[in-house]
Amino acid sequence: MSRPIEVIFYDGVVSKPHHAQLSAQSESEVLIQYGERLEHQRRYAYRDMELIGALGQLNPAIELKDDARIEFQGALPEWFNFGTKNVQHSIWKLERSPSLIVFSIIFVVAFVFALVKWGVPAASHYVAFQLPENSLNKLGDEAEKYVLNNWTNPSHLAQGQKDQISKQYLSTIAEGRPAKLVFREGGRLGANAVALPNNTIIITDELIEMAHSDQEILGVLAHEQGHLVERHSLQQGLTSLGLSVLYIAMTGDSSDLLTSLPAAMIGANYSRKFEAEADMYALKLMDRKGIEVSHFANFLQRLSDETALEEKPKQAGKTAEADKKADPNKKQPQNESSEKESSLEIFDALSSHPATEERIKMVRDFEKKQQAKP
Ligand SMILES: [Zn+2]
Repeated sequence: MSRPIEVIFYDGVVSKPHHAQLSAQSESEVLIQYGERLEHQRRYAYRDMELIGALGQLNPAIELKDDARIEFQGALPEWFNFGTKNVQHSIWKLERSPSLIVFSIIFVVAFVFALVKWGVPAASHYVAFQLPENSLNKLGDEAEKYVLNNWTNPSHLAQGQKDQISKQYLSTIAEGRPAKLVFREGGRLGANAVALPNNTIIITDELIEMAHSDQEILGVLAHEQGHLVERHSLQQGLTSLGLSVLYIAMTGDSSDLLTSLPAAMIGANYSRKFEAEADMYALKLMDRKGIEVSHFANFLQRLSDETALEEKPKQAGKTAEADKKADPNKKQPQNESSEKESSLEIFDALSSHPATEERIKMVRDFEKKQQAKP
């Protein structure tokens, strides 16, 4: 015999809620007992019920033929025999109405599209800022280990140069939230910088060597600081988990994240929106600290030029694919360079071509606006 559960019952006659108990009467019927001493009772067949599913904060409820209503105070009990009958019923209704099928399909497609386009990023943002500090550190540590072991080599910069950059970073960019600066030879990453959720910025020797001044390096570090403050790598990684991030946002169950997320973070490209956010963060910060923002634009330009130069053989008339087929001997070096290019973009689109012009324009606009201020 199933255990009766407490529910709220409206008898359909008066609008007052009754305290009531619901139990299984048989395979097809339930028994509801209500009144002060549970002295009244009614039986209802499942087939006469209409289930109003749980929605957000609202618990499930059941509407009955005699205008009575049962409100649950939590999830439906296990013995409650409603589900399968209801599903069969709605399928039967669908089969009889082709226009309803078409409408349902359109609705579902639109709904999933909206969910992926807006729901997933929103949930990622939410989860990224809900995760506790120690989860962030664990996730970031995993990703960092991966970058250190697989993608980069020990830095060959002089200690004095590293110290100087660290010192300048701490006194201008860190603003009370100092990240751990890690210097590495870029290897596959080339000239790049990476912000990881364990409050770590990895900056490559190649990037530092490409800079013409310390201000340019500080501009890049300010951009990375923006990614850190906004938790972008985490958000991007969560977004790439797709719809399952909605599940995490709704249930708060993030136990699987520690296994799936470090890889997802490493594989994710920042969206243009995140790059623009980090750029804006950098520009405002540089402006506050009296560093000319044009340094940032100059560096973006140089990075873009030099990356383009490196990739030139590949870009000849956008026929890389055709080239490969035509000349199998060329295959080897091309593969290497495309591998390098893709890893360049994996972390940070610091050097992404189509966006560079737009980003430099944003810097110039910002500069003009600041100069116009009294
Ligand atoms: Zn970036």
